[in-house]
Amino acid sequence: MRALDSHCHADMLFRFVPDFLREYREKALGGITWSYNEEILSFRQYPAYWDGLSSLCNRFTEEGVPFFYLVGIHPRSIPEDIIGLKKLPSEITDALTKHIENPLCLGLGELGIDVNTPEEERIFRWQLEWAETNLPKRKRVGVHTPRQNKERITEKLLRFLEDYEPLHPFIIIDHVTPTTYDMVYGEGYMAGITLQKGKSAPQDLYKILEQYPQRVKAILVNSDGAKDLSQPYLEWVERHEKLEEEQFVTLALKNALEFFNIQSSE
Ligand SMILES: [Zn+2]
Repeated sequence: MRALDSHCHADMLFRFVPDFLREYREKALGGITWSYNEEILSFRQYPAYWDGLSSLCNRFTEEGVPFFYLVGIHPRSIPEDIIGLKKLPSEITDALTKHIENPLCLGLGELGIDVNTPEEERIFRWQLEWAETNLPKRKRVGVHTPRQNKERITEKLLRFLEDYEPLHPFIIIDHVTPTTYDMVYGEGYMAGITLQKGKSAPQDLYKILEQYPQRVKAILVNSDGAKDLSQPYLEWVERHEKLEEEQFVTLALKNALEFFNIQSSE
């Protein structure tokens, strides 16, 4: 494997980008697909959605493109019928319990806050509480930060996370930019940097690395590809003149394998 795209949406790529699998195979990429679904109307649909991710990852892996997945409720995929409940329904916790034992399931994600509604906070906290008691030590938690009001919401989200300290070593805060890196780094979290139009450019990554060269081992680079492949990410995998090869391998592959406890067979 040349790189592990540590955050993408394989179910959507598979649906919207006919060449996606061929492209990842040719470039020797693997991936981690994070849960995000624009069509879920009821929490009762989640178990089948996660089963689908599991089958997809199995199938891609068998076809030579190693793929893993995270299960969870994304702040933009909160179904109406979960909002009035007092806790996570058993349909959800049973499914989480089942998937978390699957070797291809690397943990929870993507969880987080998008616009900061009380509902988002509640669902975020419920999943963190579930993780505090049920997440095996080798599994991880992937946290989303939004594009809009990035600094304000990241700040808010980090305050919520203060209530779940035992989980901190297992959390990655994703879509971090030069404007939020200080906050995330200051709290000691792993950080994801998404190379995509509208998110970060390779220059943003280099800016962070210049400022914090010692943090190269705590940064994972990804594409967050969903309805489209992210060209900036794919181009960066091909060409990254500003980096020593060893640094590139660390950022593109090694950190992700180590953080997510993946045994690489290649
Ligand atoms: Zn995503």
